[in-house]
Amino acid sequence: MSLIPLDPTPTQTPSRTKGRRAPAKTAEPTEAAIEIPHRITVASISPLTEKLNTYLNASDLKIIREAYRFSDEMHLGQVRRSGEPYISHPIAVAEICADWKLDAQAIMAALLHDVMEDQDVKKDELIERFGSPVASLVDGLSKLEKIEFQSQIEAQAENFRKMLLAMARDVRVILVKLADRLHNMRTLGAMSTEKQRRISRETMEVYVPIAHRLGLNNIYRELQDLSFSHLYPMRYRTLSKAVKAARGNRREVVGKIMDAVKLTLQQAGIAAEVHGREKTLYGIYRKMHDKHLSFSQVLDVYGFRVVVTDFVQSYHTLGILHGLFKPMPGKFKDYIAMPKLNGYQSLHTTLIGPYGTPVEFQIRTQDMHRVAESGVAAHWLYKDDQATVTDLQMRTHAWLQSLLDIQKQTGDSAEFLEHVKVDLFPDSVYVFTPKSKIIALSRGATALDFAYTIHTDIGDQTIAAKINHEPSPLRTELRSGDIVEIITSPDSRPTPNWLGYVRTGKARSAIRHY
Ligand code: MN
Repeated sequence: MSLIPLDPTPTQTPSRTKGRRAPAKTAEPTEAAIEIPHRITVASISPLTEKLNTYLNASDLKIIREAYRFSDEMHLGQVRRSGEPYISHPIAVAEICADWKLDAQAIMAALLHDVMEDQDVKKDELIERFGSPVASLVDGLSKLEKIEFQSQIEAQAENFRKMLLAMARDVRVILVKLADRLHNMRTLGAMSTEKQRRISRETMEVYVPIAHRLGLNNIYRELQDLSFSHLYPMRYRTLSKAVKAARGNRREVVGKIMDAVKLTLQQAGIAAEVHGREKTLYGIYRKMHDKHLSFSQVLDVYGFRVVVTDFVQSYHTLGILHGLFKPMPGKFKDYIAMPKLNGYQSLHTTLIGPYGTPVEFQIRTQDMHRVAESGVAAHWLYKDDQATVTDLQMRTHAWLQSLLDIQKQTGDSAEFLEHVKVDLFPDSVYVFTPKSKIIALSRGATALDFAYTIHTDIGDQTIAAKINHEPSPLRTELRSGDIVEIITSPDSRPTPNWLGYVRTGKARSAIRHY
């Protein structure tokens, strides 16, 4: 028994692994399933349980425990390259997911993510034991595992497409996959140099951009630095030493700015957290490389983050900071009013600090900070109550925006976009206003439903509709990707037969009300 069970009174099921383990695997990208049965190391589940306890309830924990036991049993005797029992890996992946507070199904999928691939467990068995949603997640993860990622640039768009299609079906698949990759990258040291380089390159080319697009900034930064350290070990070491040395010199300036900012905000009655921001080593390297800057030029910029309680205070704080130090012209960006495509919101400004050094500030609320750090995962937080429709729409909107962004950047086919839209939420259609705003409607919704979704007054005054620039009847059923334009007249009024043209409750009640 190499493991500490989740449950104080474990029911140890007899091991069935021997007969079902697949023959020695060679197609693995990161984890080798070598068996060293005599090696005894302990994989502890308690840190995971502690994390889960903070946001999941007892019944969730119970089914998670079952998933753990099953996975433990399946992986029994399997050892990672590092010598640890294999189960330590799914546990670590689940822990990363727990840090993002993913729901019970995602945590179970994290624990089970390698059982189909490594231990030949069939999807039917997972459905029977853990239900169809968890089985689908594990199945999706196993399929993703089989995709061969090549480093060639031309293959990259295709890889993106596959990843996107997988996440379009269920974003949790990608979240667990990213957690899986993160843990593999953290433990990459046990692999051969050649493998370290190949996996790091793949991480840099495929997973880093996806983490970035999803706004998973913490992982994005960590994956970048880990890949960098394996791809250019010498440069990484040199930079790392230089940064450590420079940190000492910077301390005085950082402290001075920090004190001034804290004091000024306090005097203005604003409760704020002020943090110094450290650039990642890869970030420094890229800046030096791309902009031909010296190390000291890159490091000569100081970064701070101010986190406040509400969004009005963000602007208030901005005003106060601009009074404290002079702002550099042309450096102010309002990502609160105009969020980035991945949902990121903050005010950015660069000030001229003491000794004339540029000081970059990010100002945001707690909520914005959460999104800035964990992106799409922040929208996927476990909720006790059902997510509201608005919530879902909002999250889908941001989500689609980011997909559209990737589409633009990779120059993928229009067909891909069609797939993504159809697969995203099978119960919804996504249409565009003439100004390219995305509107989510339930399947079967008509042009008139669209008008009422925009605004009740627009619905009431509708006289005609154009779909994809063609005049179309108001009762036309909309399809994903349609561009819908509504023509109104102040004199137009709803008629009773309109009730037969609409599918959404909102439109129907508005017409009745009229
Ligand atoms: Mn794995």
